[in-house]
Amino acid sequence: MEKCLFCQSMGPFNTIEHIIPESLGNDDLLLRGQVCDSCQAYFGKEVEQFVLNKTPIAFWRTFLGIKTKKGKNPSVNLNQPKIQKGVFPTTHPKHDNVGYTYHEDGSVSIDIDDLKIVNDIKFGAKSKFSFGMTPKVLHMLGRFLCKVGLELLCLNDSNQAKSDEFQASRQYARFGEFKGLWPIFHFTNGSLRELRRINTDEEGLLEEVDCYSYSLLFLKQDYVLFLFTMGTDNWVISLNDPYPKPAIRDVFPNNQLNLIWYSNEEWKNAS
Ligand SMILES: [Zn+2]
Repeated sequence: MEKCLFCQSMGPFNTIEHIIPESLGNDDLLLRGQVCDSCQAYFGKEVEQFVLNKTPIAFWRTFLGIKTKKGKNPSVNLNQPKIQKGVFPTTHPKHDNVGYTYHEDGSVSIDIDDLKIVNDIKFGAKSKFSFGMTPKVLHMLGRFLCKVGLELLCLNDSNQAKSDEFQASRQYARFGEFKGLWPIFHFTNGSLRELRRINTDEEGLLEEVDCYSYSLLFLKQDYVLFLFTMGTDNWVISLNDPYPKPAIRDVFPNNQLNLIWYSNEEWKNAS
């Protein structure tokens, strides 16, 4: 009998883990008998729910028109909370409180409650919206990326995924325990225009979109990297060493790999 990848319990293992959430369209990348029911329930409620509603993944899910589990068109409300809650700052001064709704004809509308933003657009002061990556957003995105990456690794080799080498990322994914934020590297690739290839046929509109892609990269310097792509965003984390040497940039020679991170001091000063 295997122990749970994340909490080392003996189960039960009745439910089947979706490595990437079903709400992103995954129905075949599954992990059986490795993540206990209680860890699965925890991830669904505490990590994925946040990621699917309050991070750039939430934006992409709407922009790309990935239907909800109930078959509805996606929409997302990216308003920040009015007050800070919890250990990690949840607001960013440059973030725009807007939402997005995907429509059946493939269009996406922007939902704005903030009158100042409406006026800024009206008078030409604003033509873009910013998404502020708060420490809370980075924290949850990092835990999500660790979870998905570790489960992929476990699918590939469960002994390796359960080895001491990955103890820190397992703890971070499941319990959020780490001295600060797990560093996330990021690059952008392609353009919005390329993502939404809208073709027509005799039936009407036909749209092809790539929802997400992922890969595990085993480097010679012994880093195990996880790359997750959605839309034009590419996120990279190192699963076995949170602080990989800059050599990992060489893995992506055509892209500018940036670290998105706040030190403990930075976020204390910002909040
Ligand atoms: Zn467990």
